[in-house]
Amino acid sequence: MNNNIKNIVILGGGESGYGSAVLAKTKGYNTFLSDAGTLSDRYRTLLQEESIDFEEGGHTEERILAADLVVKSPGIPEKAPIVKLLRERNIPIVSEIEFARPFSKGRTICITGSNGKTTTTTLTHKILADAGLDVAVGGNIGRSYALTVARNDKEWYVLELSSFQLDGCYDFRADVGVLMNITPDHLDRYGYIFQNYVDSKMRLIRNQSPADHFIYSADDKVILAEVEKLQPASLLHPFGKCNIENNVATVELGGRRVEIELERLHIKGLHNAYNAMAATLAALAAGVAEEDILRSLYSFEGVEHRLEYICEIDGVVWINDSKATNVDSVWYALESMQRPTVWIAGGTDKGNDYEPLMDFVGKKVKALVCMGVNNSKLMDNFNGIVPVYNTHSLDEAVEVCRQVAQSGDTVLLSPACASFDLFRNYEERGRLFKERVVALKK
Ligand code: ADP
Repeated sequence: MNNNIKNIVILGGGESGYGSAVLAKTKGYNTFLSDAGTLSDRYRTLLQEESIDFEEGGHTEERILAADLVVKSPGIPEKAPIVKLLRERNIPIVSEIEFARPFSKGRTICITGSNGKTTTTTLTHKILADAGLDVAVGGNIGRSYALTVARNDKEWYVLELSSFQLDGCYDFRADVGVLMNITPDHLDRYGYIFQNYVDSKMRLIRNQSPADHFIYSADDKVILAEVEKLQPASLLHPFGKCNIENNVATVELGGRRVEIELERLHIKGLHNAYNAMAATLAALAAGVAEEDILRSLYSFEGVEHRLEYICEIDGVVWINDSKATNVDSVWYALESMQRPTVWIAGGTDKGNDYEPLMDFVGKKVKALVCMGVNNSKLMDNFNGIVPVYNTHSLDEAVEVCRQVAQSGDTVLLSPACASFDLFRNYEERGRLFKERVVALKK
């Protein structure tokens, strides 16, 4: 860290901002946290307990502009007035990951992609933890990386990185970089230019050296083109369908080989085979033994709200995939469906192009139940292909599904959209859905 830095301002007081503030204070910097919105009671209390100077409900410009370094929460967009002002003054703005890295002795496995991040991160962390490594999970999930670095530094970190976290990385170097896929998402934050989003994801391999590992999907044309263009310096470990034969996925790293029997995984579908291969390669890179990896893979139950089995009622299986907030993740959800599917979709549209789903919808979907404030785009796209129902609440949607689905069918909530029109977030959407479904049993 540059010795001339004295004043650090943290923008945003969520998990990432709070962790950065604790780390900055612990390391002796003048630390000030500012949040334009309202802090949650939890973080307000924690900041007070730590005697960290903070404000909420607005930004005091003169204090913020006095910063030598700003650590910005990934949720705050470039177009926020305070960020524009900082840019005009050339005050460096970094992400929590960039800020915290120099204070840690640990190595990092950094996992990004448009879909599959949380599943792969959680699984990789489980494999390392089960094998007895000194490891923490962080980034977009769990406790922030910065907080763990400040409190109880580890030898290994498994970090889920969004493109927004990567945007604020400059000198950061991933010991192991994992890139699951790149499909259109968050384009609203990237000027609606796909390449800007791609460039952001590829920051993952920035600064990697020949001793580092880069694990990536060989089935993703966008990634392949970038690898060709950027010629990464690191050790390359592609994975893809070509690793799968007779339902066994075989991956190798450094002369060590793991054969994953896909039927023995609790997490199903091609996308989860990808997630398992990526996690296995990352664990091999971290030195975990082959048999330990397999034991953890076969006992991994999956993550809540990701193709989560809820229950079966009168022969109908109900599945919660509330986290599927873009078209690509729904593609994989439908790909994995083995039975006629009543598909619940809708919410806040993120500029979706539904074309890639048409084939599966024609073949696998029995009915589409739209659930949102404004369903017109979804209805226009799928009318005439399958029966489409227009509903505006969870209760209504579940009731229609109950009537339409017959024994042998699956009801799948896989919205392809954000949840903010009817719910606080995707977790609330998934949780309420599960509650309603379980109540049908009674
Ligand atoms: P992320 O953290 O990137 O949003 P998750 O692991 O939370 O990814 O999964 C989100 C959704 O994306 C899941 O509901 C699932 O349907 C889908 N998904 C999971 N893994 C993949 C993958 N490797 N490729 C494509 N879609 C995936």
